[in-house]
Amino acid sequence: MGTPLVIFSGGDPVNRPDLLDLIRHAKKTRLRVATIPAATDKLTRSLINELKGAGLDQMALSLDFPEAERHDTFRGTPQAFIKTMRAVEWAHAEGLALQINTTLCGTTAPFFDAMTDFVRRLGIVFWEIFFLVPVGRGALLSGLSPEECELLFARIHAVQESERFIVKVTEAPHYRRFVAQRENARRPPRGATASMPASLTRSEGPGHTVGLAPRGVNAGNGFMFVSHTGEAYPSGFLPLSAGNVRGASPAEIYRRSPLFQDLRNPDALKGRCGRCEYRTICGGSRSRAFALVGDPLAADPWCGYEPADEEGNPVFESIQGERASAPDLALPRAR
Ligand code: SF4
Repeated sequence: MGTPLVIFSGGDPVNRPDLLDLIRHAKKTRLRVATIPAATDKLTRSLINELKGAGLDQMALSLDFPEAERHDTFRGTPQAFIKTMRAVEWAHAEGLALQINTTLCGTTAPFFDAMTDFVRRLGIVFWEIFFLVPVGRGALLSGLSPEECELLFARIHAVQESERFIVKVTEAPHYRRFVAQRENARRPPRGATASMPASLTRSEGPGHTVGLAPRGVNAGNGFMFVSHTGEAYPSGFLPLSAGNVRGASPAEIYRRSPLFQDLRNPDALKGRCGRCEYRTICGGSRSRAFALVGDPLAADPWCGYEPADEEGNPVFESIQGERASAPDLALPRAR
C-alpha cells in the first residue's frame, strides 16, 4: 500500500512477547517503525537498547503535565512521571529518536505554555498533540470549546514555527483550516483557498526522523488502526470495525469498506463540515463526531468555523445549538 509508517501502540506494546520480532519484520518490509510503550518498570534501559537494535525508528512516551503529581494523577499511575523521565534519559543514551505525546483537554490545556517550555528541554524530534476524543476513559475528562481550540491552535502554531522538532496535531484537523486561514491572510491564494498549508507537510524531523504526511490524515484516510484481536478501525478513537485482518486483507478493508470509503469522501460529510470550503484539507474529527453525536460523518462539535455560502457570507443558523453550550472565550484556568 506504500504505507510509510507502522506504530505499535497499546495499552502497552511491551506486553507483546514478540514485539522485537514484529519490529524486525516491519523493517524487512521497509516500513518506518515507531512504538508507544507505557512508562512502567518493564521499560528498562536494556529493552530500549533491544528496541533500537531491532530497528525501531522512533519511541513515543506520553507526557501530559510538566510535573509529577499532576501527570501521575491524570494517568492514574503512581510514579508514571519519574519513569517517563528515566526512559527519556535512556532513549538519549541509546541514541533512539524520541517523541512526546500530549493530550489536550480541559484539564491539561491551562498548562500548555508550561508544557511547551518543559518539552523544549527534552531533546525530542517530534511532539504529537492529541485533542481529546471523549471515548473510554477519556469520556470522564473535561472537553474543550471551539473557542478554546482556536486559542490553543494559535499557541501550537507559534511553537510549530519556532521549533526544530516536528509538531503534529492529532484529532483536531481544523488546525489545518486555522493554519490555512493564517497563511492565506499573509499571502492571499490565487484561486481555491483550501490547499494544504506547506508548513504542515514537513517531510522529515531533525536527523532524517519521521516527518508529517504530505496531505491531511484523518480516520480512515491515510490511517488504519488494527486492534490486538485483528479488528480494523478507521482510528483508535473510532470504534466501528470495518472487518478483521485475520479473514481479510488490510488493503482490501482499507480500500473497499463502505465506512472507509465514506470517511475519505469529503462530499459525504454532513452539517457544517459537509458545506465547508476546507473539508478537503480538514474534514473535522470523525472520531469526535462519532463520540459526541453518534454519527462518524456529522460535523465536528469542537470546530466553530462558519462555512461561507456561495456569495462568501458565513452561514450561521445550523450551529446555534452547538455554540449555545460553549463556555467563555478564555482558556480554562490552572487549578
Ligand atoms: S467546519 Fe468541519 S471541515 Fe470546516 S473547518 Fe470545521 S471541522 Fe473542518
